[in-house]
Amino acid sequence: MRIARFTTGEDPQFGVVTGELDDHGEIDPDATVVAIASDPLYAGINLTDQQFRLEDVRLLAPVLPRSKVVGIGRNYAAHAAELGHDLPVEPLMFLKPNTSVVGPGDPVFYPRQTQELHYEGELAVVIGRICRDVPPEQVSQVVFGYTVGNDVTARDLQRSDVQFTRAKGFDSFCPLGPWIETELDVSALRVQTYLNGDVKQDGSTKDMIFDVPALVAHVSSVMTLLPGDVILTGTPEGVGPMEVGDEVDVVVEGIGSLTNRIVARA
Ligand code: ZN
Repeated sequence: MRIARFTTGEDPQFGVVTGELDDHGEIDPDATVVAIASDPLYAGINLTDQQFRLEDVRLLAPVLPRSKVVGIGRNYAAHAAELGHDLPVEPLMFLKPNTSVVGPGDPVFYPRQTQELHYEGELAVVIGRICRDVPPEQVSQVVFGYTVGNDVTARDLQRSDVQFTRAKGFDSFCPLGPWIETELDVSALRVQTYLNGDVKQDGSTKDMIFDVPALVAHVSSVMTLLPGDVILTGTPEGVGPMEVGDEVDVVVEGIGSLTNRIVARA
């Protein structure tokens, strides 16, 4: 089931999106969204009789992380190699503030402090239950679903700062969307990033060094996860720069396509 957050110009609502995806992760033009009575993370999926054409609503970030977005660095061997790093022996964790989250179609602002703004297309895990010390075999019980993320990174600041906080933490550096898919086998999904229509990343989640159960187990052994928290699972090889005016499109097989445009920060 696809769970979206959307607005028709009034208060944001949640809804279930129907329709078929094409090979580029685009949904068919006749797709609809049926409103849900309240936040499905806390109150379940209770459909209302309100239905909209998807093209008549504006999609928002499908989740507002209650406390944190946890990033995972160097989780694909070819990407670790392209940045000149050895393979990690444990998942390499960092945090992005929840204020970095934006939705599909929202601008990503190019900060004045960087000259090297990179895309990182990623599968994103949305946590559904408060949890800690989750064994890998029980991870499916705490996952609400999966969405598409772009772990936007100021690569020059990542190199110059000891911590990743500034390089990964600017407002708008965490586009999420277009919705959350709640039923999906994520063990071998194609992850692609397009820049102005040209494919730049084309990987598969089967090449992750640490798979989703291992990541959730590892993160939850360090910090309690809350409903709505997000774990970004790392990016395949092919990262590269974005410029003001560029359109970046991350597609995860079985979920959909997340599109954002780069805008100069005023
Ligand atoms: Zn990343």
